[in-house]
Amino acid sequence: MRALVYRGHRRIEVERVPDAETPGPDGALVRTTRFAICGSDLHGYHGPVNEERIGRAMGHECIGEVVSVGPEVRRFRAGDRVLVSAVVGCGRCEACAALLTARCPNREGRVLGAPGLDAAQAEAIGVPAADSSLLRIPEGVSDEQAVLLTDILPTGYKGARGAGIQPGGAVAVVGAGPVGQMAIETAFLFGPSRVFAIDQAAYRLAEAERLGAIPIDASEVDPVEAVLDQTGGRGCAHVVEAAGPQATVRIAFGVLAHGGTLSQVGATADPEMTVNLMAVFGKDLTYRVGLVSPQFAWPELVPLLREGKLHPERVFTHRLPMSEGPRGYSVFDERRDGVIKVLLDPAG
Ligand code: NAD
Ligand code: ZN
Repeated sequence: MRALVYRGHRRIEVERVPDAETPGPDGALVRTTRFAICGSDLHGYHGPVNEERIGRAMGHECIGEVVSVGPEVRRFRAGDRVLVSAVVGCGRCEACAALLTARCPNREGRVLGAPGLDAAQAEAIGVPAADSSLLRIPEGVSDEQAVLLTDILPTGYKGARGAGIQPGGAVAVVGAGPVGQMAIETAFLFGPSRVFAIDQAAYRLAEAERLGAIPIDASEVDPVEAVLDQTGGRGCAHVVEAAGPQATVRIAFGVLAHGGTLSQVGATADPEMTVNLMAVFGKDLTYRVGLVSPQFAWPELVPLLREGKLHPERVFTHRLPMSEGPRGYSVFDERRDGVIKVLLDPAG
């Protein structure tokens, strides 16, 4: 089969790799029909060469059709159209039963594509713990929405939900990339008075503004000063960090009001990243940070999608055949061409 394979710094190739197989008795083999590139894929793409990763397929966001299932799989069978959670647990522990797969203690790399787990940017993928990792694509949910349910819509929602947004509260979302867009859209579900969107890419801020957010362009103003100015010096009680780098984490703490909650879903591969919690000790804040459990969000997000209350698929600015995957990576990485999110079709 074909896959998008990591070959080194900013090098992704379309290559033939060994066919995926059903991974054990509780697993399923899924033929993919769409997959997407995530900001998390970029950490490896533009970071220092990772020798151990060379030759392995990329990606963790895909949908497809079940080809076969192992004998222990109860809820799925061949022919089912499914979305695949980017985060997979063992499917048997307390955490998995509570739909908190990110907290599963029985699997080390929980994100698809990690060592020991198949990746999503391939013509097929072996998915372990299928009963826990798959969701039949619900009626009324489009394929593009289903791709977003595998990871970033739950991630942005985790950010918004974790920030404890109260009706009338002021919100700031730092980072208006794909994950930030999901956080902004879902923040409005909680009835905030205002949502500030902070980024450096004017076109991404323009998209946030279309959702009703107040854009703050960090390439033009000091974003912390700008938010403090517009909130009478108080800052925002609810802040979502949706980018990951040191600079945006600093901004997130900076715009947070006293007694506020910062919910960080942005990630970084930078081992030098530090947070001086003592510098914000006087804020008496709550800080949440962590990996998403997509399963946890599905029961809440699916009805909202079906009822047309959310339109996250607007982030797909680029729909390309898999053969153009390498170009999709470079466009997304360099934020060229108005890109927000890239969707790939394995058929092309
Ligand atoms: P992205 O890189 O497209 O988005 C990041 C955004 O932050 C960009 O729009 C960029 O312009 C902005 N930004 C960067 N530095 C900035 C600065 N100094 N000031 C202002 N804006 C700045 O990626 P994405 O797909 O939206 O992903 C965002 C983050 O979420 C990534 O770190 C990714 O790894 C992480 N992520 C986490 C989870 C999770 O489970 N917690 C799941 C998916 C993605
Ligand atoms: Zn992702």
